[in-house]
Amino acid sequence: MGVNQRDIFMRQSNLFSKTIKEIPKEETSINAQLLIKAGYIDKLQAGVYSFLPLGHRVHEKVKNVIREEMNAVHGQEIYMPALHPKAPWAKTGRWESETEVMFQFVGRGDKDLGLGWTHEEVVTPLGKKFIQSYKDLPKAVYQIQDKFRNERRAKSGLLRGREFSMKDLYSFHISEEDLSRYYDDVLGAYERIFKRLGLDALLVEASGGAFSKYSHEFQVVTKYGEDIIFVCEKCGRNQNKEIIEENACPGCGAKREEKKAIEVGNIFKLKTRYSDAFDFKVQDKDGTLKEVHMGCYGIGPSRVMGTIVEVSHDDNGVIWPKEVTPYQVHLLALSGKEGDTIKEIADETYELFKKEGLEVLYDDRDSVSPGEKFADADLYGMHIRVVVGKKSMGSGDPHVEVTRRDGAGLDFVDKQGRASSADAAVKIKEYYR
Ligand code: ATP
Ligand code: MG
Repeated sequence: MGVNQRDIFMRQSNLFSKTIKEIPKEETSINAQLLIKAGYIDKLQAGVYSFLPLGHRVHEKVKNVIREEMNAVHGQEIYMPALHPKAPWAKTGRWESETEVMFQFVGRGDKDLGLGWTHEEVVTPLGKKFIQSYKDLPKAVYQIQDKFRNERRAKSGLLRGREFSMKDLYSFHISEEDLSRYYDDVLGAYERIFKRLGLDALLVEASGGAFSKYSHEFQVVTKYGEDIIFVCEKCGRNQNKEIIEENACPGCGAKREEKKAIEVGNIFKLKTRYSDAFDFKVQDKDGTLKEVHMGCYGIGPSRVMGTIVEVSHDDNGVIWPKEVTPYQVHLLALSGKEGDTIKEIADETYELFKKEGLEVLYDDRDSVSPGEKFADADLYGMHIRVVVGKKSMGSGDPHVEVTRRDGAGLDFVDKQGRASSADAAVKIKEYYR
């Protein structure tokens, strides 16, 4: 679960970023407002953000959940370039047809170059190099990498970047049936990913263009979504606006509810569209040449991070779910003064948590009032908070107050919400296991 074993604990007095009082005026989306305010991200220009230490941790955790589930469906991780030559794009016709979205420019020696906004043009020739026979199939490769798109409106923070992260998986098959079988496997993996990320993502039918009857989108309903979907409470069959407009929408006949949603992922049967373009065929059992069937499957980790914030926050800040909280515990010393008993107990608690291997952010700051510490902690939204204050002193073992940012209860604390530091360390570790 950790991002990097070497930095599983951090003193807040040493943290690179700070919380910011003023909300940037031009940022109208909730995710950008809260994430910038909390110092998770910083805007370089419209649709382009830096990920600061806490934000980077969340982003990496989102990617790791996706990575685990991609590996579970036998995806092999690779890493393809972002800087592309024109030739493969000219071959599929997308160099000319996608000038709206693709950043294109001229490099040294008058060479036409473009930035990758998707990778069929790179991965298909790559597959062709290593796959020659039915014996080499099926295969699936994926990467987690930055994509570049000259998006028209980049005003929704992480939801629509011009540079953004994407996990793109591509699969190769001997037949349409085998593609369908794998497509269903990936669909299951996607359901697990969004569940683990605490997102209620609806499976929505989308049009597949000329090559497939349907593709599927995973959509999170929220009033800030840019997509419109039609949800059927009765049969559970949902469709996006495109399909409804095409009037190609089977279902149970009940009235569908129109909702705004964010597309967090989609899966698509490419069939032979790209293998045809690159004349990618394999030798079948009977010696004949067969076209390779392909599927592609995308998720945007940065958009997912923004979506989590859109659906999981309150007036005071973010509320991170368990799997992606930047640190597992936010430990607050309500007095940061050296020599103060509160500080001593907090230091000891910090050491106990570290020994247990918990990821912990420790607000050890001196000369910051408890009120400010609580306000910052709310803004950060760490999944579990542990407070050391006046109530921690007294006879017996030092006690700490343990709460969940989402307000849900914890079964190891007493009626006042307290536990001994030692117990808290063990029980919180168990909770995350
Ligand atoms: P949209 O309709 O929202 O533009 P898309 O259909 O263009 O999305 P794909 O090309 O299929 O999306 O990309 C796969 C995934 O990448 C999407 O499901 C989404 O999670 C993410 N994604 C796409 N465009 C962006 C973007 N501009 N910023 C952040 N994430 C994006
Ligand atoms: Mg798009």
